[in-house]
Amino acid sequence: MSKRLAIVTGGTRGIGEAISSRLKSEGYDVAAIYAGNEEAAKKFSDNHGIKTYKLDVASFTDCENVINKISDDFGKSCEILVNNAGITRDSMLHKMTQEQWHQVIDTNLSSCFNMCNAVIKNMRENKFGRIVNISSINALAGQFGQANYSAAKAGMIGFSKALAKESAAKNVTVNVVAPGYIKTDMTNAVPVKVMDTIIAQIPVQRLGNPEEIARTVSFLTADDAGFITGETISVNGGQNMV
Ligand code: NDP
Repeated sequence: MSKRLAIVTGGTRGIGEAISSRLKSEGYDVAAIYAGNEEAAKKFSDNHGIKTYKLDVASFTDCENVINKISDDFGKSCEILVNNAGITRDSMLHKMTQEQWHQVIDTNLSSCFNMCNAVIKNMRENKFGRIVNISSINALAGQFGQANYSAAKAGMIGFSKALAKESAAKNVTVNVVAPGYIKTDMTNAVPVKVMDTIIAQIPVQRLGNPEEIARTVSFLTADDAGFITGETISVNGGQNMV
């Protein structure tokens, strides 16, 4: 059997970099999508030997075009999709602008529609697909200053369950991984004092590593993971046990 093709959005930095490199080490062909940080994308590509594609996942038309380009380049359709690209635009609701709301909803949630819409027909026809959407602990618990982010990330869970039901009979699974606080550029941007408070709430007493999220994604994307679908797996060091 030829190698399966995996596409990872936000695949060049942080959690996405770890997912891309893990899937490659497991024998998948991998295409990594980034938004515009050329320097990080080049460094990633040089380090891992993985092809990168620039794409704003908030654009429906661009998602379709880039998915088609990736399929042409690799000579096969996408069989594994990891929707990992995400941003924060934090603000308390009474100060939140419409722009902050829409940027986060478009990049974190509409992107899942855009990317899944572009791959799902082929997955259904080929009777194989693995979709993993990267949500957040803040979808499940809510977070101060993150009404936009929490809403988008919670939306991903409902979206995934609906698509999981539609796709199950075609051997296409759709699952969610909800990370807790992971050491990446996103959390490096949080003030140290705030981070210390957060770490004090994590039973394992540390931030997670991107590789620990990649481990969970690789579990869900495996060929023999076909009986797990519509599920949300928390990877958060014991924070927010429910
Ligand atoms: P980073 O900020 O470190 O990396 C974000 C990645 O997403 C980059 O590759 C970036 O590309 C890409 N990206 C951002 N916007 C777009 C866009 N519009 N189109 C395409 N690609 C885009 O993020 P993390 O690794 O920390 O987070 C990854 C995912 O995990 C996110 O969805 C985040 O919400 C989620 N998460 C993270 C947690 C954490 O603690 N870090 C906790 C819970 C969830 P470029 O390099 O070009 O900017």
